[in-house]
Amino acid sequence: MKPFKFISATNPAQAVAMLTKNADAAFLGGGTNLLDLMKEHVALPNEIIDIGNLSLKDIRATTTGFYLGALAKNTETANHPLIRKNLPMLSKAILAGASAQIRNMATNGGNLLQRTRCSYFYDISMPCNKRVPGSGCAALEGFNRMHAIFGWSEHCVAVYPSDMAVALSALNATVNVQNNKTERAIPFKDFHLLPGNHPEKDNSLTHGELIKGIEIPENNFASHSAYVKVRDRNSYAFALLSVAAGLNLNGNIIKSANIALGGVAHKPWRALQAEEFLKGKAATTANFTKAAETEMAAAKALTYNKFKIEMGKKTLVNALELAFKG
Ligand code: SF4
Repeated sequence: MKPFKFISATNPAQAVAMLTKNADAAFLGGGTNLLDLMKEHVALPNEIIDIGNLSLKDIRATTTGFYLGALAKNTETANHPLIRKNLPMLSKAILAGASAQIRNMATNGGNLLQRTRCSYFYDISMPCNKRVPGSGCAALEGFNRMHAIFGWSEHCVAVYPSDMAVALSALNATVNVQNNKTERAIPFKDFHLLPGNHPEKDNSLTHGELIKGIEIPENNFASHSAYVKVRDRNSYAFALLSVAAGLNLNGNIIKSANIALGGVAHKPWRALQAEEFLKGKAATTANFTKAAETEMAAAKALTYNKFKIEMGKKTLVNALELAFKG
């Protein structure tokens, strides 16, 4: 591991100032991804700014919904009574991620910032535009079984690995950040980016910005929601594909649906075609199937991940049926 300087911040403004003045510095929250990246020489910060002591750990109800502090741990968030009762989809998504030990360390803000698990990204002997812009994409013609079927570009076909973020996308969350001039709120759909010509950029944060918390509006589908994750083994594995689904129902008529997919794109993929199709329809398996087919029609598979298209249809139907049953 490359040597680095270690300093601690005592408040958000100080943390932001410390990061802003050093382009090669990095924040340390739970460290569950950063340390892996440093050990593999993928991330090479010369200064680590420990933000673990900042008071950004609250989980609470607000007048419009719920607030998650950026430094609250994933385990604490998933098991919080407020979250379990009002946002069960989020609780399930968090608990589907990683292992208990990692969830005990990982923070909510860090979860949003974790980097792709594309194996070529972690192998510094291979070309990777995300790690070294302009070097090429080894996965495009390589073993791309885990990779994207939506929104990819010839420069990067990686998927974003978080489970929590898939639920936050379906829940229309907002990410609150602070920089050295102001604070701003980023709608979740604009937080993570598609790769385009710049896969090195995962999200819309600029260097020096600190995530302070996540706001989640109230919803009317808590009792009809689901998170379904398909993976190679039942623990400590990233999603081949996942679905977060919430149904706002009037009897068995769907007033609106909130659906997001994981493991299919460089960001949580909001299933807007399926949502639109389901509006005003009866909650039947036939309509769920049609919605899933409508959504997956635009998928573009790579050499080794064609199976994800059929898997996507089936997982979507499964999640919608589970959400309907409640
Ligand atoms: Fe790198 Fe993206 Fe290609 Fe993976 S898919 S090798 S992360 S550029």
